[in-house]
Amino acid sequence: MPHDTPPHAALEQTTRDLARARAHLSATQAYARALTSPPMSARELIALGTASQVPTRYRNHNGYLLRWDDEGFLFDPGEGTQRQMIYAGVTTAAITRICITHFHGDHCLGLAGISQRISLDRVPHTVHVYYPGSGQVYYERLRQASIFHDVALVEPHPISAPGEIHADAKLTLSTLPLEHGVEAWGYRLQERDSRTMLPDRLAAAGVRGPAVRRLMLDGQIVVDGRTVLLDEVSVHRRGQSVAFVMDTRVCDNAVALARDVDLLICESTYLDCDADKAHDHGHLTAAEAARIAAAAGARKLVLTHFSQRYTSVEPFVAEAQQYFDNVVAANDGDTIAVPPRA
Ligand SMILES: [Zn+2]
Ligand SMILES: [Zn+2]
Repeated sequence: MPHDTPPHAALEQTTRDLARARAHLSATQAYARALTSPPMSARELIALGTASQVPTRYRNHNGYLLRWDDEGFLFDPGEGTQRQMIYAGVTTAAITRICITHFHGDHCLGLAGISQRISLDRVPHTVHVYYPGSGQVYYERLRQASIFHDVALVEPHPISAPGEIHADAKLTLSTLPLEHGVEAWGYRLQERDSRTMLPDRLAAAGVRGPAVRRLMLDGQIVVDGRTVLLDEVSVHRRGQSVAFVMDTRVCDNAVALARDVDLLICESTYLDCDADKAHDHGHLTAAEAARIAAAAGARKLVLTHFSQRYTSVEPFVAEAQQYFDNVVAANDGDTIAVPPRA
């Protein structure tokens, strides 16, 4: 009699093959999405990895690239970030600043590979790296983890105090301490407020050509003997903002970082049924992340940094939506636009 049931060993092999095929399909789909997605907006988040502590079959260690005009902010590059960037169609040349919240491995192990790759690719611009000052030794180990010909233009910025760590004509980058048991900093990117010129009012006031730029710089200009004020011919334009809150208990600084931001990227390692564990290990639940977003008046919440104990992120979104409507759970390879100004 033929035996229809495969032997036990063959069944195990089939199960392993199926799991491998699933993982391959998932990676291929992410790569295809990156290749076929429409032209990317100038300001968007690319989730390179969304797992806390250990990578899983479907989630890489942390890693997030925020494209912002001509800048690229790489947040918390965990192990495998270099390969995840390839899947996402992102090159090292896109990175201008690397922001590390703390030196647990899932937030920094990728710095070794990324900095060597920056060197190998001869990235022509300086890449600034921000990290907790007490972790200087870890920074140095990761920067020089193994033999390579180091020609990377990498400038370290150990953080020693809260506040602004970078400011230019267009934006500021600031940081506040979080509560995680080890030194950990959250980040906030803030575009400077500006003004939108109103063409019809400019025309009515007789301001044209180079005079428009002069008016923007000086706040007023004299045209045909009349003083035209900037306020008369333009309206206030609120700067966009993004907050990155990773690995913390609920704390006031998480809310302060996220105050009125357009996009809040927030860890939600646990569900509320494991709130005790979250508190003990210095982490957030999905409900806590949502309450932070609501208290801060954020516009959109991205949940990430999921514990491997959960098989689905759907309950995270459902739990968060009890407190905050506009929420998504990040998956590896996702691209999430910074919401346009209202
Ligand atoms: Zn973590
Ligand atoms: Zn941590």
